[in-house]
Amino acid sequence: MASPAKKKTKSDKPGKGRKSGHARRTAAPAGRATPARAGAERDLMARLAQGAVVCAEGYVFELERRGYLQAGAFVPEVLFEHPEVVEQLHLDFVRAGSDVTQALTYYVHREKLRVIGREKDLVPMNRAALNIARRVARRTGTLFAGDLCNTNIYDPADKASLREVERIFAEQVGWAVEAGVDYFVAETIAWAGEALMALAAIRKYSKVPAVVTLGMHQEGLTREGLTPAEACRRLEGAGADVVGLNCHRGPATMMPLLKEIRAAVKCHVAALPVPYRTTPGQPSFMALTDPCCGDRRAFPVGLDPFVATRSEIFDFGREAYGLGIRYLGVCCGAGPHHIRALAESLGRHPPASRYSVDMSKHAYFGTDKKIRKIQTDYQDKA
Ligand SMILES: [Zn+2]
Repeated sequence: MASPAKKKTKSDKPGKGRKSGHARRTAAPAGRATPARAGAERDLMARLAQGAVVCAEGYVFELERRGYLQAGAFVPEVLFEHPEVVEQLHLDFVRAGSDVTQALTYYVHREKLRVIGREKDLVPMNRAALNIARRVARRTGTLFAGDLCNTNIYDPADKASLREVERIFAEQVGWAVEAGVDYFVAETIAWAGEALMALAAIRKYSKVPAVVTLGMHQEGLTREGLTPAEACRRLEGAGADVVGLNCHRGPATMMPLLKEIRAAVKCHVAALPVPYRTTPGQPSFMALTDPCCGDRRAFPVGLDPFVATRSEIFDFGREAYGLGIRYLGVCCGAGPHHIRALAESLGRHPPASRYSVDMSKHAYFGTDKKIRKIQTDYQDKA
């Protein structure tokens, strides 16, 4: 595949006047500027200085949909069973416009492997994820990101748990540094204290940039009760290069929090919502209930009726970039079509845009002269 980095020639001009939906093909090839110096291609901060960075996340949900990962534990055992599927997924997201190949080490930490009884696979599974992502990143000219995540054992009142969290972050940082990551993402963390510990491990054991994104549940506060703006301010103060939010909330209920974060910090801000129609009454995807089915909890495998359209992700990308948020992505539930819509909202034309919708030749709704009148006359009944 051609390196997207080499094809892009100018800075982002997000979604200028173009509306999402059926007529998005006018997108001019645009994107981040050509790296000005050798090595800048692998420099997250240089890329952010020039424009947006698109980062696909949420791999475990997409792998679950494809039949390679079990919902519930959400541990990517697929890394051993079908590494080729993980590699193809990375490639699909890059083709759709992701500037980043993030190692699938989400939930490949000691605690999660303990829960599923595979602790002995801790090291090889981390290395497998890192090797696959590095191969794709180097082949496609995308940034190679290491990944830390929620440990699910953090308890500020339990010193033993804190020691274990420290160990989890330290060892995962170590393996990623050995693999040569360009930067780190610490993500989906609901405790500011835990996020600070992840950041401390990145700072202690690596020299690369740190993106730290909090996962905000229904309350819109960290687990210890801080506003996300205050938590992000503390993370910035502790040396994070990019702070923000990922997962749990859809565009509609993440956006108000993002505005507060953008106003509270000086550093770059990250926004990676889930592609679901969360509401003020049910602001996180774990809270969504489906009226069709006795108002049962839709998470995690009944969320299909709530999936955001490409247009909604396009609009989110344009609005977020307009606010000055440059690190953009989509988390759990994202398919390549969402990432493509996000990239196109920034005025980009990734390889997958070759197949972005064009209804002009549709059998009923087409406007092309070759479409017969007997068909277009029928479009109101189609
Ligand atoms: Zn997620």
